[in-house]
Amino acid sequence: MVLSTQTSATTLDGAALRRDFPILNQPQPEGRPPLAFLDSAASSQKPEQVIQAIDTYYRTINANIHRGVYELSEAATAAYEAARQTMATFLNARQARECIFVRNTTEAINLAANAWGRSNLTANDRIVLTVMEHHSNLVPWHMLREEIGFSIDYIPLTDDHQLDMTVYAQLLEQKPKLVGFAHVSNAIGALNDVAAMTRMAHDAGAAVLVDAAQSVPHMPVDVQALDVDFLALSGHKMVGPMGSGVLYGKRELLEAMPPYMGGGSMIRKVTLDGTTFADIPARFEAGTPAVADQVGLAAAADYLTAVGLEAIREHELELLDYAMEQLPSVPHLTMYGPEDLSKRSGVISFTLGSIHPHDVAAILDGENIAVRAGHHCAQPLMAALGVVATTRASFYMYNTRDDVDRLVAGLHKANEVFGQV
Ligand code: PMP
Repeated sequence: MVLSTQTSATTLDGAALRRDFPILNQPQPEGRPPLAFLDSAASSQKPEQVIQAIDTYYRTINANIHRGVYELSEAATAAYEAARQTMATFLNARQARECIFVRNTTEAINLAANAWGRSNLTANDRIVLTVMEHHSNLVPWHMLREEIGFSIDYIPLTDDHQLDMTVYAQLLEQKPKLVGFAHVSNAIGALNDVAAMTRMAHDAGAAVLVDAAQSVPHMPVDVQALDVDFLALSGHKMVGPMGSGVLYGKRELLEAMPPYMGGGSMIRKVTLDGTTFADIPARFEAGTPAVADQVGLAAAADYLTAVGLEAIREHELELLDYAMEQLPSVPHLTMYGPEDLSKRSGVISFTLGSIHPHDVAAILDGENIAVRAGHHCAQPLMAALGVVATTRASFYMYNTRDDVDRLVAGLHKANEVFGQV
């Protein structure tokens, strides 16, 4: 196994951080062990600091934004725009207006597909996606293809469950207009080399959209260093509220894009004959936004910065390394994802002999260990791996070696219960 070599990471104490997360410290019924939460890839838990930010917003600042001339509305507007600036700084965007607030990664990608795709793609064009995408980076493009008729090529997997860079280079020879891919696969934890893939795409004249739902919460992500054109994230996976998220886009691309949804807040002028549209970012934020949630997202970004994203990455790699030492003791376990741990995030996807992944998850739940089972909204990836479903354990900053030990013990128990020896 190869461990990533971080240089400036400080050690992180998962057990201490756990105390910031009220849900992980709830009293359990008599005899039930504490919750081992190994499902942060689906949604992370929230620290006191984020819960407080939302609470404070509703108790002291709440009003509709941008339209009010009274003090409270101005305070709410200031809080919302400060949250945008925080997210821009967090991602190292050049300007705050390059961060469009959305509900989640799915909405971010739909926005890009509809606004950029509709004005840039024709029936003769091609785009490149990958077989490891979450459905949210497949379905919007499929829907648009139905309308416009462009072609989609997919980067396949190597035997080591990484993207096949040789095929990628060949696909770029066909001059696609866009390359879209996940920074980290939610289903197998494969970590893609965004900087290299983006350089290759740009050399071929393609724009790049990165689904960063599984990377931004777990490692430093700098949109200028990576030079991506669009980047999508969900607040709820990065200790922020559900209903918060960002589509980052380079200013010149966003400014050239038509709106996605129409309504209040996104207009310059409306007459009965028609509408002219506001500048970015308002052009893409029709209707009353989730102000409190985006304020909570900014608190989440501040929390991650305070803990340190390099330290979080290092902590998860240590847990992954430890898990990879312990898990081979479990008979019948098959794991998916790259062997090289530096090419992975803290996600372990596996099957356990002939036991259905849902049954494995149910046995683990009996031990108060939360994991996810199913196709992980990545059916084409499951098909490429030759399975219909897997069980997935995913780590975050608040997990500890004890959680890994309990996972391993739970899997031994599943084998026992199902008579697999
Ligand atoms: N992409 C990836 C890689 C994901 O892991 C997820 C969430 N599982 C999504 C997109 C969709 O995120 P959301 O449901 O928050 O829109």
